[in-house]
Amino acid sequence: MIDPIENYDDIKESWFSSKIPSLEENQLNFVSVIRSEDGKEWRAYDCPCGGKDHCATRPMAQDGYSQYPSDILTCYINNRQWLVRPVNVVAVIREEEEKYLKLVAKASRIVRKIVKKRGLSEDTLLFLKDTHGIDRELVQEILDGNTGEHK
Ligand SMILES: [Zn+2]
Repeated sequence: MIDPIENYDDIKESWFSSKIPSLEENQLNFVSVIRSEDGKEWRAYDCPCGGKDHCATRPMAQDGYSQYPSDILTCYINNRQWLVRPVNVVAVIREEEEKYLKLVAKASRIVRKIVKKRGLSEDTLLFLKDTHGIDRELVQEILDGNTGEHK
């Protein structure tokens, strides 16, 4: 099932990235914090437009008592903007996990088909390893039904 909230994030992100270029958080070079007299704050970075005589800035957003830099970095000199993406560790892990689960699902179809056709023998195990890179532990797990039901 599609998680509507997650889906919303994807839509928002693709909308943003179609409008303006994006940068990863770790590509930015932080310079300083700027404070206005009325207490507003910005973070200044080396400007990604390449100009050396000015900084690009992000306003600080307020969430309860905590402050964090907003997603949008602006160069007011050359009138450009970038979407700053956080380095999302959870998303990276989830992507790896999904890749693995897809691999297991694919392996599972292959193993069931081939074992049904050839029977489970040493020969079949070697065949699966040589032609599909599926080792015997995974074959055993698939046949025991211990895979693909992680969630
Ligand atoms: Zn600039």
